[in-house]
Formats: sequence, C-alpha cells, structure tokens
Amino acid sequence: MKTLVLDKTQINVAAELLKNGGVVGIPTETVYGLAADALNGEAVAKIFKAKGRPMDNPLIVHIADFGDIDRFGLVETIPESARLLAKHFWPGPLTMIMKRTDVIPNEVSAGLDTVAIRFPSHPVAQEIIRAANTPLAAPSANLSGSPSPTTARHVLNDMDGKIDAVLDGGASEVGVESTVITLAAGVPRVLRPGGVTVEELRGVLGEVEVDDAVLHQLKEGVAAASPGMKYKHYAPKANVILLKGADDEYIEYVNARAGDDVCALCCDEDLLSLKVKTVSLGRRGDYLTHARHLFDCLRGIDENKTVLTVYSRLPSTEGVGLAVYNRLIRAAGFEVIDLEKV
Ligand code: AMP
Ligand code: MG
Repeated sequence: MKTLVLDKTQINVAAELLKNGGVVGIPTETVYGLAADALNGEAVAKIFKAKGRPMDNPLIVHIADFGDIDRFGLVETIPESARLLAKHFWPGPLTMIMKRTDVIPNEVSAGLDTVAIRFPSHPVAQEIIRAANTPLAAPSANLSGSPSPTTARHVLNDMDGKIDAVLDGGASEVGVESTVITLAAGVPRVLRPGGVTVEELRGVLGEVEVDDAVLHQLKEGVAAASPGMKYKHYAPKANVILLKGADDEYIEYVNARAGDDVCALCCDEDLLSLKVKTVSLGRRGDYLTHARHLFDCLRGIDENKTVLTVYSRLPSTEGVGLAVYNRLIRAAGFEVIDLEKV
C-alpha cells in the first residue's frame, strides 16, 4: 500500500479515506493518532493490524464537540463529573471513560463495557472529525511498544506502506498522550497521567484517585484497569536505565561509564558536565518542555545506532512530570538504580 502524505489543505482527502474505512495518521495536540471510523469495526481492526497492537487494548474515541457524545449515542448516561471536567478541560488532553452503548464496536472497547472519549483541541484533528462526520478511534500512531510519534515523520518511520495516509499538521504541542480518567464507577480514578495534571483534576472534582499502575509495575495476576498500562511501552531499542539521586551523583555515575555506546538523557544544565553523548529534555524543572521533547528524544537516540544504554534521571512526579515519569519508567522496564545505595 502506498501511504499518501497530506498537508493541511487536504483535510477532505483524509476525511474521504476515513469515511471509506481507511486508516489515516492525524495530528493532535498530544501525539499523532492512527485514526479510523470508530463506528466501523472492520476499519478499526486495521488499526490493530498496522500497529501490531494486542486486541485486548481498547482505543480512545475522538469527537469534535461535547454534543457528539449524545448525537452518536456513545454512552448510556453522561455523568455529572464528565460535564464538569469537559467544561474545564475540553477540548484538550483529557480522556474520560464512561459506560458505553452497543453503538461502540467490540474492536474499540476490546470487550469492556466502557468507552474512552476525548475531544482534542488541535484544529486539524477537529476539522478531520467534522469532515468525516463520525467519531474517530485513534491510538498513538506508532508501532506497538515503541515511542509515540509527535511528528508526521515519526509516523512515516513506523507506518509507511501500512496505512492509507498521514496528514502533516506540525509537531504535537503536549508531546505525551492524554490523561485518562475513569468515571465509570466509584471515585474518579486516573489510569494514565498526561497533559491535564492530577492536581488540576482534584481542583475541579475534589477527590480523585491515582491507579497503582501509574507509578508501579503491575503484580503478576492483577487485572489492569487500563489494559495499555500492563505492556512494556514507549521503549527505544537502546536499554533505558533510570537513576535516582542528586544531580551531581547522576553526573558522576554517568561519567564513570563514559563510552561510545552510552548516552545521557538529561537537562540543559547538565550539558557542560557530562562526558558522554547527550540528549536534553530541556531546562531542569520545566516539565511541560520535557513532556514535549520526550518521545522525539527517545526516537533520536535510536537513530544513533552505536548507543546501547541510555541513562536518565528518575523524573519528578509533580504536575506534568508525572506523565514523563510514567512513560520513562515503562521505557526502562521499571529498572531504577538508587544512587544512594551503590
Ligand atoms: P493510546 O490509544 O495508545 O493512547 O492508548 C489508550 C489508552 O487508554 C490505553 O492505555 C488503553 O488501555 C486505555 N483505554 C482505552 N479505553 C479504555 C477503557 N474503556 N477502559 C480502560 N482503559 C482504556
Ligand atoms: Mg499508545
């Protein structure tokens, strides 16, 4: 299959492909999505095939107006908490899980009785959804397990020849996937941290729980509330190792291991002190910038074929830092070295 590369003037071409059951890479403010008509199970199945995604991992349904939830009959009832959150954070990087109706194909919900819904803020994403006149199921447009794509080039690197088209809408602003919160039962619970922070969600709803799988590896035999959280994920080919400790300890540890096959995923302030290859996420403490650069940095490291080991600091869990922490700890397969104990 030849993959078309479209620009912003070709939204109608993308929409036509989607209406006809095609699969198209689309820009959103979080990461690039691999979109198909969410109400067409056959079209959605093509997404799983192109990504190599396990069929038990459900997809997020993207809409272009809060009213689309009722217009397409996606959920049984809209909880009051969803209306409140939508008022504050939609359109934007927040996904809400609610009880689904039978309109949602099994391919989308992976057999669960719930559906995840997001209203993205990216104007191109909104225009494509409106032009296709249907909600779009769209997971991140990477091969399953690899770092998510934040540019059209990243999408092509993974998907060229496997999908109908990719629409280039520039680099994604947020850079990590949406925050996922379930409103389907009991106290609202964050299943995946993203651009909308836990602190912001508590500011609106009061009580909000954070699922264990956000920070920790799931114990064997425990069912994942969010199936995506149980897989090794976001990983470059090089081995990622996280270091917990003070800034000078980090630099000393990495420099002691200097070599051609070593790279430091670091901050701007470390660049002069490190004696190995470096890739910087941005200024220390600037978590928004770290999130925006994270996946591009991880993909860039793999382009340098000599690098076998990447050393990164264990990120902070504050604000958007929690999203970076959650992705990096999975990229590292939960491997953290405590520098106070070495
Ligand atoms: P992605 O589409 O790659 O951004 O991944 C979507 C994430 O949302 C995965 O971690 C899924 O497991 C999760 N997800 C989607 N739908 C549901 C749902 N109905 N219940 C729980 N988690 C979901
Ligand atoms: Mg993904």
